[in-house]
Amino acid sequence: MTAKYDVVIIGGGIAGLVAALCLAKEGKSVAVLESQGQMGGRAITNKKEGVRFNLGSHALYFGEAYAIFQELNLMPDLFKRVDEFTPYGIWKEKVYPFPVGISSLLKSPLLPLSDKVKFGAILMKVLKLDTASIPYMSLRSWMEENVDSPMIRNLLYVLARGGTYVQAPDLQVAGPLFKQMQRSIKGVYYVKKGWGSLVDQLCKEALRLGVTLLPLKKVRSVEHRNGQVQHVQCADGEVIDVSHVILTTSPKVFLKLIPHAEHTSLKLWEQQAIPITAACLDIGLRSLPNPKYQFVYGVDQPILMVNASRVKGLELSDDGDIQLFQMIKFLGQSSDPQEDRKQLERAMDLVQPNWRREVVAEQYFPKMTVVHDFMHMKRTENPGPAVPEIRGLYVAGDWATHGEYLVDGAAASAKRAACHILSREPMRV
Ligand SMILES: Cc1cc2nc3c(=O)[nH]c(=O)nc-3n(C[C@H](O)[C@H](O)[C@H](O)COP(=O)(O)OP(=O)(O)OC[C@H]3O[C@@H](n4cnc5c(N)ncnc54)[C@H](O)[C@@H]3O)c2cc1C
Repeated sequence: MTAKYDVVIIGGGIAGLVAALCLAKEGKSVAVLESQGQMGGRAITNKKEGVRFNLGSHALYFGEAYAIFQELNLMPDLFKRVDEFTPYGIWKEKVYPFPVGISSLLKSPLLPLSDKVKFGAILMKVLKLDTASIPYMSLRSWMEENVDSPMIRNLLYVLARGGTYVQAPDLQVAGPLFKQMQRSIKGVYYVKKGWGSLVDQLCKEALRLGVTLLPLKKVRSVEHRNGQVQHVQCADGEVIDVSHVILTTSPKVFLKLIPHAEHTSLKLWEQQAIPITAACLDIGLRSLPNPKYQFVYGVDQPILMVNASRVKGLELSDDGDIQLFQMIKFLGQSSDPQEDRKQLERAMDLVQPNWRREVVAEQYFPKMTVVHDFMHMKRTENPGPAVPEIRGLYVAGDWATHGEYLVDGAAASAKRAACHILSREPMRV
């Protein structure tokens, strides 16, 4: 029997689309099967009252994803670099300059004089660290060895969770975290018209290269026999014969898709995964009551507030004048949707008084899964790219990180899976 495609990719988020492009560029025939009505997964953008909302705040770091998007020839105009970064911090119900530059370090009352020089020195050290050579240890252990002041530790934890969404110092592996911190301190890109336009570009390029994009195509199972992928069974009854499949769903979902997954590495990868979640409140405002505060860390509470519209030319609303304020509460073990929202609104009262009068549109997600896994101390092994027990089966997605954070994990793992497949010819049976 002749297969229609060299590779079938399950899931049309960033990982699925990047994998499709890497393969199609090398002449492979590829189909992307996506259960939802549109491609993009957690990178879609919703429009409400003319305001473009991502699924929560989304910044693109100078990491693997950005490099891969460049390789894939996405329009450079899509990415707007954030040049201005004047952060503030909420501490004991007051807003103070957050000490990341020389002037804010001098001005900020968040640190006693004796700690200011030390904090400046430790930030410089973090920026210059050769992160690959840091011994395998948790963030907490690194802090205990290197930082004696409790407030300096606290501020470093704030920066760590701001750049990774993770607040688990006992679990977070220090090396990859510091690499991400170096990136986030150096600056970030925002995507013009929201991450949905990045998805649109990836889809456009995929179609140009002949990729078949199939929204509303939910996969029910990936059948395998004698340790080799045989075909993909879709929920609408279609059966696609194929010998190479890349799974980009969450670990929980792929366990259901693969018969006898419990006898494969997939089971371990699912068991070791620790998802990171956040409550996200995004508000479109006619104008900002207090333009001074555009980027505010919670120092004594796990929140972050960002005015995405501070970046010029982002076109986050139809009329261009709306200020899109994005608030995140980093969630731990427990969450309470109403309380979490109230906490974000109270912070907004502090930072942007009378903001309620200015609201044009809003979006609240009480519990979003930001990533399905990250580099933590309880990991036994890094997932993928191949599933060793089933020939032709591969994994990608932010959880399949080998140290990269967030969308960098999604894009880098997708490229790893594609490269692995490309190195193994022939593929059509
Ligand atoms: C609130 C929030 C804020 C974030 N902020 C940032 C940020 O600032 N910077 C950053 O780099 N990253 C950020 N991220 C992370 C980034 O959005 C994700 O890492 C990335 O979008 C994940 O892509 P993915 O392809 O791995 O997964 P997904 O986007 O989840 O794609 C998986 C796809 O598989 C599909 N699927 C599932 N089951 C099936 C099935 N049975 N059949 C077919 N299809 C199926 C799903 O519908 C989905 O579209 C954020 C995420 C969130 C939620």
